[in-house]
Amino acid sequence: MRIKSHKAIFWDLQGTLGGDATGDIKDFQFYPFTYEALKLASKKGYLNIILTNQSRIGAGKLTLKDYEEKVDALKRELTQNKVEVKEILCCPHTKQDHCSCKKPKTGLMDLCVNKYAIDISKSYVIGDMGKNEVVMAHHAGAKSILVLTGAGVGSLNEFRETWKDYEADYIADNVLEAVKSIE
Ligand SMILES: [Mg+2]
Repeated sequence: MRIKSHKAIFWDLQGTLGGDATGDIKDFQFYPFTYEALKLASKKGYLNIILTNQSRIGAGKLTLKDYEEKVDALKRELTQNKVEVKEILCCPHTKQDHCSCKKPKTGLMDLCVNKYAIDISKSYVIGDMGKNEVVMAHHAGAKSILVLTGAGVGSLNEFRETWKDYEADYIADNVLEAVKSIE
């Protein structure tokens, strides 16, 4: 058996690392503190992996080509700023597709856990939607941090019902505060 020696942070993209929570990814921009947060995560020994639900693709509102062009631009931007991100992966499906990769399902996490030999018990999911990121972390056996950017405040208040059976391990103002809070 391969020893699972790596730890990772599974980041949500929109509303978490930048942009607004539910808008078109084409308008996405990183928050000013995001590079520092991702660099600090690397320094603390975490692999940075970004997972995003993009049901607009499945719904025909966004082409795969437009999505891929945007992701390529984001990857270039990260590289230019010396930020190391292992993967940016999306679920393109709508709810009606009943896939295994749409958060809070763990399909994309499972893929990365195998590819990078990740010890899930030492890993985190960080995002702004409790019903997606906190619930996914729970399903996978990782720890979770809810950030209050994007949909975070709403997720904790008027939408708390959508993930009422779960608790985040920690609540942070933003991704930089989140990374500072972990070992
Ligand atoms: Mg989000």
